Amino acid sequence: MKYISLGKDKQIVTLSEGIFKGLADDGSLFMPEEIPILDPSFYNRFTDLSLQEIAYNVLLPYVEDELNGDALKKIVQETFSFPIPLENICGPIYSLELFHGPTQAFKDVGARFLSRLMSHLHPVKKRKMVVLTATSGDTGGAVAHGFYKVPGIEVVILYPKGKISPYQENQMTSLGHNIHAIAVEGVFDDCQNLVKRAFNDGELRKEVMITSANSINLGRLLPQMVYYFWGVAALRKKMPGINPVICVPSGNFGNITAAVMAFRMGLPVKRFVAATNVNDVVPRYLNDGIYDPRQTIETYANAMDVGNPNNFPRLFHLFNKDLDKLRQIFSAISITDKQILETIQSVKQQYDYLLDPHSSTGFLCLNQSLHDDEKGFFISTAHPVKFVEIIEKVLPQESERLIKEFGADKVPNNILKSMPVSYNVLKEKLLEV
Ligand SMILES: *Cc1c(COP(=O)(O)O)cnc(C)c1O
Repeated sequence: MKYISLGKDKQIVTLSEGIFKGLADDGSLFMPEEIPILDPSFYNRFTDLSLQEIAYNVLLPYVEDELNGDALKKIVQETFSFPIPLENICGPIYSLELFHGPTQAFKDVGARFLSRLMSHLHPVKKRKMVVLTATSGDTGGAVAHGFYKVPGIEVVILYPKGKISPYQENQMTSLGHNIHAIAVEGVFDDCQNLVKRAFNDGELRKEVMITSANSINLGRLLPQMVYYFWGVAALRKKMPGINPVICVPSGNFGNITAAVMAFRMGLPVKRFVAATNVNDVVPRYLNDGIYDPRQTIETYANAMDVGNPNNFPRLFHLFNKDLDKLRQIFSAISITDKQILETIQSVKQQYDYLLDPHSSTGFLCLNQSLHDDEKGFFISTAHPVKFVEIIEKVLPQESERLIKEFGADKVPNNILKSMPVSYNVLKEKLLEV
């Protein structure tokens, strides 16, 4: 399997080149050159396979040029080592809970896979390697824990100061060792732009081998396909032959791109719904055909506060950049903060299920979009304990219970580093870590 860049250069690279470069030389994203279709017999037996066995079968065609079967098995076993249950919420609606990993969000899957892939594929450690990433909240914790104490790799994480929860902040600032978390005095898009500048800085890259762990990295995108197979298999065990509707709370649109890739590999899915908060560039695009990125708006679902989703070119590529083709199996709905809160409250009261603000958009969009003859699941992208400040607004007893149960009242306990939105300051830091 080769990987191709989506810019006009059409750069072709191997898996390890793609992983360590992050972005192509022209700044565009890599995609698999083609999406392999799994043998139909796989779909006759995938309900009987374990999560790790599914992961192995799905990922092998993407990595087999550079990893042997045993190496992939080991990586897959270490990555998919926590449960991913499919829970019924009510009637036709199920929740695929991706929050049972070390930092309680779906990003643990991608970060764990990527870190193990990198340490496997990293050649002789001649130059210092720095993983550089921007986070709107959940990436940081997942990357920090995924790479913690991995030898030869330093990790620099930029996050918007004061715009993530104390619990999230603690997950990335409390580790130390090779993990450097820096609060940037700006918004997430500022962090993302700083990262992009570093990647486009040829002079810097001669000194330091920088690589990305963002959702733009192929090594994060690929393993995210796996749990869609797992979720559909789990639903088919209950309802043989079902083609579910899948709803994904979306910000940078990496998670839902992986879902559509799984579909292209033959996974039986009826259609997809992207749930967004009021950062609604994609819902508006599907509606009026004008792609018009805007400034980021802060919401209660802050890991989805993205004004210009950086994985959208990948998604569009999967539909040959044809908006009408996209519309056939893909819709998107934007949810306000008020609706997020109302849904958290009503789902707890009616069905005794506690949603986090992101998963709340997933439930509501799926509920709004399902027709009478359809069934589906949404991805529960984070555990509610990560957002007790929001839960507290409508369910104060629940937030208190969570705080006690998880010790979520721990405030960041180390000295926080912060920096202005300045590329030169970042560059200095990258040279000195
Ligand atoms: C990152 C994140 C999202 C958005 O995922 P994308 O792949 O960027 O679309 C949604 N919910 C949570 C909790 C997240 O951490």
